Amino acid sequence: MVATPIGNLMDMTFRAVDVLKQADLIACEDTRVTGKLLKHFGIKTAMVAYNDHNGAKTRPRLLADLEAGKSIALVSDAGTPLISDPGYKLVAACAENALRVIPIPGASALLAGLVTAALPTDRILFAGFLSAKQKARQTSLDTLARVDATLVFYESGPRLAATLADMADHLGPRQATVARELTKLYEEVKRGPLAGLAAQYREGPAAKGEVVIVVGPPPEAEAMTAADIDAALQDVLKTMSVRDAAAAVAETTGQPRRALYTRALALKSADADDP
Ligand code: SAM
Repeated sequence: MVATPIGNLMDMTFRAVDVLKQADLIACEDTRVTGKLLKHFGIKTAMVAYNDHNGAKTRPRLLADLEAGKSIALVSDAGTPLISDPGYKLVAACAENALRVIPIPGASALLAGLVTAALPTDRILFAGFLSAKQKARQTSLDTLARVDATLVFYESGPRLAATLADMADHLGPRQATVARELTKLYEEVKRGPLAGLAAQYREGPAAKGEVVIVVGPPPEAEAMTAADIDAALQDVLKTMSVRDAAAAVAETTGQPRRALYTRALALKSADADDP
């Protein structure tokens, strides 16, 4: 699984060049796209197309080659294969057949976007592409709104304004970053509240190119005080067992369930003692 640059060819790793030169075959999404990369680095290895359209048909052939002892390098058009790109089913099939899978790490828009975002990186949820259909996109955002983590999305320039508008409506007031055309000539990183970014892209000309959107975690979870947590626990303890109350508040606040359980027990027994 060989990562390739997401725009700037200088991001190709020495190891990626070496592995692609030495492989028996390079499986790639599009032989024209990868052909240009190979030409640039003087790599002469044969290519075969492996993508969402021909995967089911091509996979058995690749597996047979691997079983016969050949080495196959999988690349995508850009970045790290399998990350919103083909490859997962091939890796799963390799694992099933006890064939070795070796990662050759390198560029990925996911990490490049995340590290420019100026948002917490200790807990992230990669959500890939949201649906192009507004209703489905909004439903996904409603589910993601409950996740106490920094969220990372892939998007294309032309859909950016509509996606940011839905994010502002469905994720609530949060800090976010739009990282566009990373590692390329027109690299641009914009940070601000979701609603502000949504307004900026709604009013400006349609954005071009490729985009990573990074959205900070829900602010409530960050700012919660002990009193807020007690209030949330007391509220759900009216109708739930201590265990369920701890689980429910853990889900909505991102606080550790064990600590919430201990606190909920204390609140419950204090309540029982209260005449
Ligand atoms: N597997 C790739 C990776 O690891 O970076 C991602 C492939 S996915 C089909 C393409 C999406 O990745 C784009 O729509 C965009 O969201 C993001 N992307 C790729 N290159 C980018 C770049 N140079 N700057 C910003 N986002 C990029």
